[in-house]
Amino acid sequence: MQNKHHNLIAGEWHQAQNYQANTNPSDVSDVIGLYASGEAADVAVAAAAAAEAQRIYARAALQDRVDLLNRIAAAIEARTTEIGTMLAREEGKVLPEAIGETKRAAQIFRFFAAEAIRIPGDALGSVRKDVDVEVVRDPIGVVGIITPWNFPIAIPAWKIAPALAYGNGVVFKPAELTPGCAHLLAEIIHDAGCPKGLVNMVMGRGSVIGPAMVADPNIAAISFTGSVPTGRNLALSCAAQMKKVQLEMGGRNPMVVLDDADLNIAVEACLNGAFFSTGQRCTASSRFIVQDGIHDRFVEELTKRMATLRVGPALEATTQIGPVASAGQLDGNLGYVALAAKEGCEVVGGERINGPTEGYFQRPALFVGAKAGMTSAREEIFGPCASLIKVGSFEEAVAVANDTEFGLSSGICTQSLKYSREFRRQAQAGMVMVNLATAGVDYHVPFGGRKASSYGPREQGRYAAEFYTTVKTSYVYAG
Ligand code: ADP
Repeated sequence: MQNKHHNLIAGEWHQAQNYQANTNPSDVSDVIGLYASGEAADVAVAAAAAAEAQRIYARAALQDRVDLLNRIAAAIEARTTEIGTMLAREEGKVLPEAIGETKRAAQIFRFFAAEAIRIPGDALGSVRKDVDVEVVRDPIGVVGIITPWNFPIAIPAWKIAPALAYGNGVVFKPAELTPGCAHLLAEIIHDAGCPKGLVNMVMGRGSVIGPAMVADPNIAAISFTGSVPTGRNLALSCAAQMKKVQLEMGGRNPMVVLDDADLNIAVEACLNGAFFSTGQRCTASSRFIVQDGIHDRFVEELTKRMATLRVGPALEATTQIGPVASAGQLDGNLGYVALAAKEGCEVVGGERINGPTEGYFQRPALFVGAKAGMTSAREEIFGPCASLIKVGSFEEAVAVANDTEFGLSSGICTQSLKYSREFRRQAQAGMVMVNLATAGVDYHVPFGGRKASSYGPREQGRYAAEFYTTVKTSYVYAG
């Protein structure tokens, strides 16, 4: 009983009919706890409570929002080790990365605490005499927030913080694989004196909670991060309800390495971008597009470095690459490793390995000799696997980089000002990196992509206002 973790609904910890075990991917015998698996009816109660609380919160002093967001940030900071350890244990991210992600969550709350008192608006004259025009950003109401397992503390933070900063209520549904971090965050928000019912957390199956959120009349908008098929279905059902929707989905991000690149910088950016966090980042580099003059040296150096990477349990101090997050993900990754070999690639690494405990450990994989058209080089894998495609020129590199259904992040390693500038102009992606890994972003600037990677307004920075507010234009005659 003690180990049961409940949903947060209408300001109370709410018992569920069913609970799911949360297990450690570094050691499947380690059960972290039992977490509520809610029902559609829970969403209705949560959304009604959020709507009621939001009406009051939106009209209260802005300083209340600032103080609340800063208190949440301070509590995350105070509990960084505890949250980071939970993250490493339930998701498999190595502890330093997990701690870094937790600190990032606190920084995001602090950023949006400050944004709450600088919500922009316009005061203009009218084309009519004695009339003034004012443009303000109103909250949208209650936002449904659906998050994935790969950044279980940072992504909830970058959706909940702006929701609150711009005056909204929240119904939050975390990923089934990582309820532990979500529960800690909900506890922090609750204990920070958040108005009762303003932020609710309903853990449970996406196929149950998601549709209930879309259908609920009290939920005005949905912000989602996850897979392309789920996102596409969400967009369709939100359109039918005329609900605002923001989607962040997959990527198959290219990293171009030109002949003139600094080899060390290129290898470092590729190694980090593709394999750190076990490749489980939507911004991970998973297509290395390498010019023929540097190709062989690049392969030699990269594979040498890959062989030294220490794969193991996330909480072990020497580990650099933690386990794959679940048995299902590991099966998928191994399937792509087999497919790449079948398609004619020389596969370096990629095999499942044993660790000191029974976990989902896999060596990073490089698919040498890949061709742009291969399925193993086109579909999103979401694991420590990268295809390596040889090209003859800058123009061919750009064409291959853009030849994808996705458009999240795109990188180039070069010392040429001309090529880096040209690449930034031509890359069909929401984010472009020069001599940096495709993954690893700041929190005060927009995050998002193009094509099948994203849909709707951008997240993060002041651009977040676009989704979390709705514009109102008012006219006043005072003649
Ligand atoms: P992943 O492959 O990363 O698990 P998903 O898109 O399946 O990607 O999951 C991302 C989030 O979407 C999770 O919180 C999951 O529970 C949720 N989800 C799954 N199915 C649905 C659905 N039909 N409607 C809304 N959310 C869903």
